[in-house]
Amino acid sequence: MTDDSSGHAVFAERLFDAVQGHLDVAAERLRLEDGARKVLSTHRREVAVSVRVPRDDGSFDVYPGWRIQHNGARGPFKGGLRFHPNASRDEFRCFSALMTWKTALLDVPFGGAKGGVQVDPKSLSVAELERLCRSYLTSIELVIGPYRDIPAPDVNTGPREMAWMYDEYSRSRGDSPAVITGKPVKLGGSLGRDAATGRGALFALDRIARSRRWTREHIRIAVQGFGNAGAWFAELAHQLGYRVIAVSDSRGAVVNGEGLFPHDVLRHKQQTGSVTGFKHGDTIGGDDLIGAECEVLAPAALEESLRVDNAERVRANLVLEIANHPTTPDADRLLHDRGVWVIPDILGSAGGVSVSYLEWVQNLQRERWSEERVNGRLQELMESATDLVLERADEGGVSHRAAAYELAVERVADAGRARGWH
Ligand code: NAD
Repeated sequence: MTDDSSGHAVFAERLFDAVQGHLDVAAERLRLEDGARKVLSTHRREVAVSVRVPRDDGSFDVYPGWRIQHNGARGPFKGGLRFHPNASRDEFRCFSALMTWKTALLDVPFGGAKGGVQVDPKSLSVAELERLCRSYLTSIELVIGPYRDIPAPDVNTGPREMAWMYDEYSRSRGDSPAVITGKPVKLGGSLGRDAATGRGALFALDRIARSRRWTREHIRIAVQGFGNAGAWFAELAHQLGYRVIAVSDSRGAVVNGEGLFPHDVLRHKQQTGSVTGFKHGDTIGGDDLIGAECEVLAPAALEESLRVDNAERVRANLVLEIANHPTTPDADRLLHDRGVWVIPDILGSAGGVSVSYLEWVQNLQRERWSEERVNGRLQELMESATDLVLERADEGGVSHRAAAYELAVERVADAGRARGWH
């Protein structure tokens, strides 16, 4: 094991423990029976595969891959596929459980899964990458399917890879677009998927703003991470009248207390490779964005970006988690004690899987919805989940994360009990 991969293994284990910790707290408050606790804290199926890839020079390579299915009490398993040199079983265990709670909270009829291959996709040619996708799909074919487990894109995978895998599955089983989501629109992908995570986070924020009687133009937002989710969130929030005062990427941040035009920042980033140096704002260090004077801080970059060593500097009243697991449990407690609301990832980042669900529905019905219809349904899903979390937190006097986990765990436990699993 290299230093990098052993460091990553410790990190993946820490992440898994954090998600497990949230489950334990919810299980305790819900007074779940022992059987339910055992089922919910274990994975239903873990498939380890060897992915054989013929290289362009005639040689062969074999990469380890996995598909980990956490809980399918509420419907077929659902979750992304990632290709990364540090991908590991522990990481997929953690993210598959996170998917179970996310889909349950949004009340979409899925369970949770995650998977992928331990490979550096940049080391492969396009033809080799296609063979990798087809080989991986064949190796997990028996455990996936439109009513079994529906993969989707994640780190280093996108519509192109989904199209190859959809094609491979359909070769033996007949045309099956509902086997995978995140496909190109011309192959049955849904309109609105690209912006879905950012848009979903905004629907949640807007609902919260209304409940707290905030006026949009007085809400200053700082967005950490200006990639797919963060940039869409910033642009759509700006269009709705919120004031986006700072955004960052891996090289640094740009801030303007009067408000930025995210669309112009994006153009600058496309031209220069970074948000830094944008002329209508001041460039500051990436970590300084965390202490920016604002009402809403939206981490949309990496895991564990809010830790005890920097959470003290947060000046926002609300942290809206768009990234998966951006707040460590210690930082979460610290923010809660300081009265900062933390809207958890299983709500803040659920727009993506919600539109994946809508893609699956369209594929099963052989229909194509307009973008307005997709966005309208996304809004309903996000708003009703947000309302429930606000209500539960209020009634129970618990954090929004605890409330969200209670709702999700209760739903999965109820479904499992009705099936006679515990
Ligand atoms: P992305 O790769 O498009 O963007 C990530 C951005 O974060 C990039 O702009 C990168 O420069 C920036 N970044 C990296 N390190 C940083 C740092 N130290 N400080 C500030 N910025 C930094 O990824 P994405 O798809 O936007 O996903 C972002 C997060 O949201 C991830 O945690 C992902 O798991 C989560 N998420 C995304 C989706 C989705 O549909 N895209 C869905 C659910 C959850």
